[in-house]
Amino acid sequence: MSECIFCNIVRKEIPAKICYEDERVLAFHDINPVAPTHILVIPKEHIASMNDITPENVEVFGHMAFVAQQLSKEAGVAESGYRVVVNNGPDSGQVVHHVHAHVIGGRVLSSLC
Ligand code: AMP
Ligand code: ZN
Repeated sequence: MSECIFCNIVRKEIPAKICYEDERVLAFHDINPVAPTHILVIPKEHIASMNDITPENVEVFGHMAFVAQQLSKEAGVAESGYRVVVNNGPDSGQVVHHVHAHVIGGRVLSSLC
């Protein structure tokens, strides 16, 4: 998956402002933030979208949720509120086809759609 920009970030082939890393996931600041806090949490394994969840890889999604929770605390938005968004497929506006959870907060967010 050398053509996948997020796989390139996982392999440190292109730079990113990484704020968390372990053996399963990576988190970094979105290059085009829509709010004061805008972090992306991704699995290190290439999984294109939530359509590709299987019994074998489902556990990483729970871990991504926990990392998002921890990063929301670090960012100081856990109590003020934040949104976790996963876009899947054309109608959602998914642009990068390596699944990622947007963690967005730090301002009052507008309605969902
Ligand atoms: P989505 O529409 O859910 O696929 O969102 C993709 C997100 O990735 C957008 O918010 C982009 O700003 C972000 N993005 C794309 N390239 C990079 C990059 N090199 N570093 C950080 N964020 C990126
Ligand atoms: Zn990838």
